[in-house]
Amino acid sequence: MPWLAHYNKRFMSLSAPSLASSESIARYEPVIGLEVHVQLATATKIFCGCPTSFGAPPNANVCPVCLGLPGALPVLSRQAVDLAVKAALALNCAIRPQSRFARKNYFYPDLPKGYQISMYDEPLAEHGYVDIVVEGVPKRIGVTRVHMEDDAGKSIHEGFRDSSRYSYVDLNRSGTPLIEIVSEPDMRSSAEAYAYLTEVKQTLQFIEVSTCDMEKGHLRCDANVSVRLKGAEQFGTRAEVKNLNSFRFLKLALEYEIARQVALVESGGRVEQETRLYNPDTGETAGMRSKEHAHDYRYFPEPDLLPLRLGKEWLAGIQASMPELPARKRERFTAEYGLREYDVEVLTANRAIAEYFETAATVSGDPKTAANWVMGDLMGLLKAEGKEISESPVSARQLGELVGLVAKGEVSGKLAKEIFGKMFSSGESAGAIVERDGLKQISDAGALEKTIADVIANNPKQVEQYRGGKATVLNFLVGQAMRATRGQANVAVVTELFKQKLG
Ligand code: ADP
Ligand code: MG
Ligand code: ZN
Repeated sequence: MPWLAHYNKRFMSLSAPSLASSESIARYEPVIGLEVHVQLATATKIFCGCPTSFGAPPNANVCPVCLGLPGALPVLSRQAVDLAVKAALALNCAIRPQSRFARKNYFYPDLPKGYQISMYDEPLAEHGYVDIVVEGVPKRIGVTRVHMEDDAGKSIHEGFRDSSRYSYVDLNRSGTPLIEIVSEPDMRSSAEAYAYLTEVKQTLQFIEVSTCDMEKGHLRCDANVSVRLKGAEQFGTRAEVKNLNSFRFLKLALEYEIARQVALVESGGRVEQETRLYNPDTGETAGMRSKEHAHDYRYFPEPDLLPLRLGKEWLAGIQASMPELPARKRERFTAEYGLREYDVEVLTANRAIAEYFETAATVSGDPKTAANWVMGDLMGLLKAEGKEISESPVSARQLGELVGLVAKGEVSGKLAKEIFGKMFSSGESAGAIVERDGLKQISDAGALEKTIADVIANNPKQVEQYRGGKATVLNFLVGQAMRATRGQANVAVVTELFKQKLG
C-alpha cells in the first residue's frame, strides 16, 4: 500500500544533520512563504449549527454533518463568509465574483468524511498584500490567496490510561470554519516572516475576525523554506515546516531549517521537497513525509454546495462595517497627535488599547499627556493586577477627565497620581474624589499667603541660607508649603511667591 509507506516515513530513523556555519549561511539567501490557518470567530461551525465553543467534553459538539455521516448535507454559514471576506479585504485582496468549494481527499482518523471541504482553483480572494517594516526597511509581502475551509477533528495520543495502546479522536473541532492565507515566497529572513505573521495577526484581531489565540490553535502557521546562493535567480527546492504554534517557534524553526539546508547544499547534497515537523524540545526539524502534491488530493468541486457568488451590495455592506486598520491607525496617531514611533506601536498594539487611548485623548484635550498616562500609570496598575485594558476599573473617559483637570490647573500633577490610584481601586470619577477629599489645586496667591508666611517664620535657618545665595534651599521651602497644603498648592505659584517674599 503506497500510502502506508508515505505515513511510515516519519518512523524512519534519521541521522541528525549538521548545521552550516554563519559564514556559509551569509552566502545564501533564504526564501520563505507562509501558509496561515485562522479560525473564524463564529458561534457555530461552517456547515452545521454545532457550537464552536472551546473546552466542551469530547465529541459533545457534533451532529451528522460534522461527523461526516452519509447523506448529511452541508449548509454554508453566512457569518463565516462575512468574516472571511472581511479578512480578505483587510489583507488587500480582490474578492472573486465567484468562488467554489472543493473536496480535498485524504485519509486520516480525525477526518471522518474522508475529505476536507476547501477551495482550490476558485478561491474566495486573491492578489493581496501585507506591508511590513523590519529594521526600518519597509517591504510589501504578496498574499497569493485567501480561501475558506473546514477544520478536521483532533487525535489524542496522550492522557488516557490505555494511551500506550490506543489513540482517541475528538470531533468537536471538526467543521470549525477556517481561512487559509497563502503568501507569495517574498520573505527573505526569519525576521521578515515574524513581522508578516505579526501584522496578519494584529490586522485580523483588529477587525474581530478571529481571536488569533495561538495557544488554542486559532492561528496556525506552516512555513515553506528554501535557500539559494545570493544573486541566483532560481528558487531552491523548498521544505514545508509544520507545528509552529508560537511566534518564537516560527523564528527558531526557520533559523534551524535555513542552517540545515545550507549545510546540505554546501556538502553537495540536495534539499528534498518534503514536509518537516518542528520539535520545540530539540529545536530541530525532522522529515515527516515527502511533500504531497495537489494531484495526490484528487480535488474536485464539492457537489453538495453551490458556487459562492458575492453580490456588490453584500460586499459593500462588509466594506462599510470595516473599522480602521492598524496600519492606517499608526499613520494617523503619528500625524494627528504627534506621538513618537514607540508610543504609536504600544498604543496600537490592539484595538482596545487604541480606542481607550483615543477616547482619553479626546476627553482630556491633551493627547500627549493622555498617552503617557495610558502607557505609564494605567498599564502599570493593570499589569500588576493581571488585567486587560477592557477590564480597567478606570474608563477611558474618566482618565481623560483626570488629565483634563491637570491640564486646566485644577489638580496638581503630584496629586493626580494619588487621585488616579483612588480611581483605580474604587472606580470613582476624578471629580468626585477631588470634591470629597478636598484635593482641588490652590492657585490663588491670596489663599496661599498665610502658608508662605508660616513656612518663612518656621524655617529661619533655611531662609537665612537662601538669602545668603544658596538657591537650592528654595526647593526645601516649596516642599514645606506643599506639605502644609497636603499637595494641593500649585507648585509654580508657590515658587513664585517665595521668590517675591525673599527678594
Ligand atoms: P502547496 O499547495 O504545495 O502547498 P503552494 O503553491 O500553495 O503549494 O505554495 C505553498 C507556499 O510555498 C506558498 O506560501 C509559497 O509562497 C511558498 N513557496 C513556493 N515556492 C517556494 C520556494 N521555492 N521557497 C520557499 N517558499 C516557496
Ligand atoms: Mg499548501
Ligand atoms: Zn455539526
